[in-house]
Order: sequence, then structure tokens, then C-alpha cells
Amino acid sequence: MSGFKSFAKAVTLEFPTKITSVVGPNGSGKSNIADAIRWVLGEQSMKYLRGKKGEDLIFAGTSQIARLAKASVSLVFDNKQKVFPVEFDEVAMSRRVYRDGANEYLLNNSQVRLKDIIELLSKVGLGASQHHIIAQGDSDRILYASPKEKKSMVEESLGLKIFELKKNEASRKLEATESNIKQVEALRSELKPHLKFLSSQAEKMKNAEELKKQLEALSEEYVSRELKTLAEETEEIKKNKTPLSKKAADLELEIKESETALGRETDAEKFFEELKTMDSALETIFKKRSLLEREIGRLEAVSEAAPSTAAGALPKEKVKAVLMELAKDLESVSQSGTMEAVRNMVFSATQKIYRFLEEINGEDKHKIPALSREFSRAKEAISKLEAEELEIAKKKQATQKNYETRALKIHKEGAMLREKMEELARTKDVLRNFAVKEERVVLLKKELEIDFPPPAGGWIKNGKPAGELLTDILRAEFRKKIERFQIRLEEAGGVDDSILKEFEETKKRDEFLGKELEDLKNAAQSLKNVFNELETKIAKDFNEGLSKINKLFGEFFHEIFGGGKAEIKMEKSRPKKSAEEILEEGFGEFEEEESEPGLEIMVDIPRKRIKSLAMLSGGERALSSIALLFAMSTANPPPFLVLDETDAALDEANSTRYASMLKELGKKTQLIVVTHNRETMKAADVLYGVTMGGDGISKLLSIKFEEAEGVLAKRKAT
Ligand code: ATP
Repeated sequence: MSGFKSFAKAVTLEFPTKITSVVGPNGSGKSNIADAIRWVLGEQSMKYLRGKKGEDLIFAGTSQIARLAKASVSLVFDNKQKVFPVEFDEVAMSRRVYRDGANEYLLNNSQVRLKDIIELLSKVGLGASQHHIIAQGDSDRILYASPKEKKSMVEESLGLKIFELKKNEASRKLEATESNIKQVEALRSELKPHLKFLSSQAEKMKNAEELKKQLEALSEEYVSRELKTLAEETEEIKKNKTPLSKKAADLELEIKESETALGRETDAEKFFEELKTMDSALETIFKKRSLLEREIGRLEAVSEAAPSTAAGALPKEKVKAVLMELAKDLESVSQSGTMEAVRNMVFSATQKIYRFLEEINGEDKHKIPALSREFSRAKEAISKLEAEELEIAKKKQATQKNYETRALKIHKEGAMLREKMEELARTKDVLRNFAVKEERVVLLKKELEIDFPPPAGGWIKNGKPAGELLTDILRAEFRKKIERFQIRLEEAGGVDDSILKEFEETKKRDEFLGKELEDLKNAAQSLKNVFNELETKIAKDFNEGLSKINKLFGEFFHEIFGGGKAEIKMEKSRPKKSAEEILEEGFGEFEEEESEPGLEIMVDIPRKRIKSLAMLSGGERALSSIALLFAMSTANPPPFLVLDETDAALDEANSTRYASMLKELGKKTQLIVVTHNRETMKAADVLYGVTMGGDGISKLLSIKFEEAEGVLAKRKAT
């Protein structure tokens, strides 16, 4: 102790034995030691510490000595037997208070909370009610305590407080858990309609998504197959077209060459031009000759008019022969029929006729010389014309012959040319066909690109040529199917990602809440289990402990009073009291409003008809309470017991009995007794003397029993 109340200077008390007695004059500071123990163990009530505020616990100073700033007390337990469930061999509890009222708690020199101290103490049966520290004049407190308080004190002495605490904690936690459950349930039911709505939306969207997937798959299949089909068609067309194009080109070249070679149109014109020139030359000759022949005719007429001297007759045979020949010619010409033949025929016939006429005229020449000259001139001109004519005719014939030969050749070549041209036309037809096909392929490709745009916008992710080839029917079927899907998808509505996201989040939240609810319910269940187990344990231990205490109480009572009976037992649970009853029974029981039963004490002092505690004498009361205190301490011994002048009211006979009971109890628990009683002092193994000089500071001295008597004697003397 240091600075605590009258112990201004640091002092150390050791308790190495079973019973330690503290002796000293009144007001020397003995009770302050008990106070120090009470205080260091966490006492919060200033009343029990005999002060008004924390400051009152600090040495207040005297006229010579200044007051102190803080009070501190440490209580060191030997923990070699691990009574405290910690690994240390010593457990030191310390408490400090400062003038501003601030408290500090330490456990083995580490600062801790009061709660930690209380918890640790409750584990060894040193609970908050501190039934093991009996203050001066307070030993019969238990007798006057309310049934509920009595019960609490017994529970504590039985070491059940820790379980009680745990039970209360479980109950508190359970309450909190249940309110959490309600909250979570409320949250969840708030969420429910929204979740339901979102779920149906999401369901719809999932359908749309499914539809979309199907559409994508279908589109992809179609596009792949279409691409392959079109590629193959293009290839096919190309394969066929190339040789055909070459063929057409070859044919065109050949035709052109043939045409050039023939020079058909220009040649014919030239030929006809030539013929025409020749014909007109012949015409001119013919006209000229006609004129000459008419001249000859005239000349002949003139000569005939002149008298003929020798009208020689023409040999008949000769005329006949000439005419026959002419007739033959005419006949043949009438059969042959061509204009050329006729002309030739007429020409030769004319020649023959002239020749014949010449023959005839030759005979007359000499007859008419003038005429004859003219005649021969004309005849000469005609001959010349005839020669000319013959020349032209020959030339014409040759030209014609030449033309015909060439015409034949042209004809042949022409036939070939025609064939080639026809072939070319056919080839071009086929080529045109291919062109049409090609155009169709291009068109289909364009259409495909428009209807199935490349990724991102379209339904296809990777359109690559693949699959089986498409026929027109298949293509149409695909298109139709895809269109139907598109319509259905449109009807299904778009996919709103934000709704899906919200659904997922809400679902997750709901699941989370569900999980939490489950956890909370599990927690609540296990808390309930803990609570029930504790309750059962407490009830069991309490009942067992109480009956043990009750038995011991009876025995101690009997021993002290030399007979009689005493009992501590559960109240009979009773209905709430009426106001009248409360008034009748007085204030003592007034606060007792709970219907939960507490404990009541019954005493039966030998040879007396005393049933009420209130009727006992001071000594009897002290003895009764000592009996109960010892019973409680024996049933479940606390680590130590502080008794501050519990023996004050005892007469000599009872003091002796008390001392022997102390010795008995000392076997079970360590005792610290403050006393003025000789018998009690005798029972102690160690005595501490407390004195206070004029400086107002308590001093401590360890003394022997004989010295103690001396101390007491000194007190009596002064
Ligand atoms: P008794 O035999 O009469 O019961 P006691 O030895 O138990 O006496 P205590 O009650 O322990 O005496 O001590 C009381 C003394 O302690 C008083 O003299 C009081 O002045 C002193 N005291 C109490 N508080 C303080 C304080 N804060 N500062 C100084 N002295 C104090």
C-alpha cells in the first residue's frame, strides 16, 4: 500500500500463513487494510470504502506532512497452483487513484480494464459482492439482506457468479441477435418484391439471351455455309470461265483474220465495177457497130438500086449452110439461156452474117467503086470494133471466171467463218451465263454483308467458310428461319444489362442476408443452448451447494448455540404482494417486487421461542451470521477471507468457540482477521500491529502474540 488513506508511506504486508491477525488501537488504521484489499479487488461503492469520493482514499496530509497525489495498492497472489487460470506463478492486481478521481487497474503491471479484473476474480470465486471481506459491524449484513441479495451472495460464494455472468451475457447476446434477426428479416422482406420483379425481368432477358444465342448459332451456320457455297461457286465459275474466255478470244482472233483474208465486201464491189466498165465498153462498141451496120445497109441499098451487070445468083447451097449454122447456134443459145451466152451467140452469129455478106459483096465491088470504098471503110471499122469487142469479152470472161473461183473459195471460207461465229456466239452465251452467275454471287455476298455485318454489330462472331454447301432451297429456309428468330427476339425485347446487374446484386444481397439470417439463427440457437446449459448447471450447482451450505449452517449453528436449528432455503414463490401486505411487513421487504424466489433464513434458538431474526440479541445475531458465514466459506472456500472485528460482540465463552471455528476454517481458506479479541489473536499464526503516532500516519509492525498482548496492554494503559 502506498498513499492509501492513513498509510502514507509504502508498507508491505505478507500473509504466509493460514491465519493472520491485525491488531492495534482504535483509529490506528486496521480497517484501512481491509479497505485496501476490498478496493484493489475493484470495489466501486464508496460507501463500503468509507468515503465519499475517490480522493478520500488518498492520504490527506497533516499539519506537518503534505497530502499525496495518488494512492496505490497491489495485491499479489501466489499462483503456483494455477488457481487463477493464467500461466503466471504470481498474479499481481494493482489499483491506483489520482486526485482527479481517475482510476487505473493493472494486472502484473500491465494496464487493464476493471472488467478484466472482475472477470479474472470471478473465476476464483472472488466476485463483486465481496462476501469474503466482512467489514466491521457488517457481519450480520446477510441476515438483513433481501431474499434476492441473499441468493446472490450464496451464488457468489458457490462460485456461480461467473456462470451467472456468462448466462446474462448469453442472454444479452441472444437479445441482440434476435433483434438483428428481426432487422435482417425486415430488410429481406423489404427486398422481396423488388427481387421478384427483377427476377421475372431477368428471366425474360434470359429467354431473349437464349434466343439470341440460337440466332447467333443459326446465323453463324448459315453465314459459314453461305460463304463456303459462294466461294465454291466463284471458284467453279472461274474454273469454267477461264478456258471459255480464252476460247472466245481465240475465235475472235481467227474470225478477224479470216475476214481480213477474205476482204469479202471490197472485192465484190471491185469486180462489179470492172464488169460494169467492161459492159459499158461493150455497149459503146455495140452502138458504134450498129451505126456502122446501118451505114453498110444504106450503102447496100444504094448499090442495089444501081443496075447490076452481072446479077450473079448466089449458090443456093452456100446460103443454106450459113442459115443452118445460124439456126443451130440460136437453138443452142435458146437452151443455154444465160445472158452472156446469148450475147456471145449474137456476137458470133453477127460475125458469121458479116462474113457471109462480105463474100456476097466481094463479087460486087468492082461494079461500084465509090460505094465500095465507103463500104470497105465501114467494114474495116466494124472489124476493128469486133476485135475490140472480142478482146473485152475475153477479158470479161476471164474476170468472171476468176471471180467465180474466188467466190467458191469465199463461199467455203465463209461457211467456216459462220461456223466460227456461231461457236463464238455460243461461247459468249455461256460466258454471259457465267457472268450472270458471277453477278449473282457478288450480289449474294453484298446481301450477306449487309444482313450479317461483321462482329460487334451482327449475329456472327466468326464467319468463316465452313459446313455443307447450300442449295437455293436451303438458303431460303435459312433466311426464313433467321428472320423468324429475329422477329421473336424483337418481341422478347432487348437485354438491359443494368437490370441484369441489379438483379445479380439484389440476389447476392438477398443471399447474403439469407446467409446472415441463417448464421444469426444458428448463433441464436447456440446462445440458447449455452444459456440453457448454464441455467441448468447453475440451478444444479446452486441446489447442491445450497443444501451443503444449509447442512453446514445447521451444524455450525447447533455447535455455537449448543442446540437449536437454523436453515437457509429457497423462498416459496409467491404472488406479488398487495399494498397492505407490504405495509404490514414493513420497509425491509418493500423493494422485493419480483416474483422470482430468493433465499430466506430461519433460526430456532434453543430454549427460546424466537423465530424472527429481528428478535435476536446483538450477540445472537452475530453468532447466527458467523454460523452462516462459516457454512458458506466451508462449503466452497474462497481463496481468502477478511473478517474485520466479526468477533466484536462475542462473550468470552463464544470467543473461545469462535477461535476454534476459525482454526477449522483456516484449514480451508486463508484468513485475515482484524481483532481486539485475545482468543482470536491466539488462533493466528502471524500478528501485525498497526499504530499511529502524532503524524497521523499508520505504521506496521510484525509482532509475536506476547507482544500483541503488550500492544493491547499499552492501549489499555493510555
Ligand atoms: P478501530 O479499532 O477503532 O476500528 P481502526 O484501526 O480500524 O480503528 P481505521 O478505521 O482503520 O481505524 O482508521 C481510521 C483512521 O484512518 C482515522 O484516524 C483517519 O483519520 C485515518 N484516515 C482515514 N482516511 C484518511 C486519509 N485519506 N488520509 C489520512 N488519514 C486517513
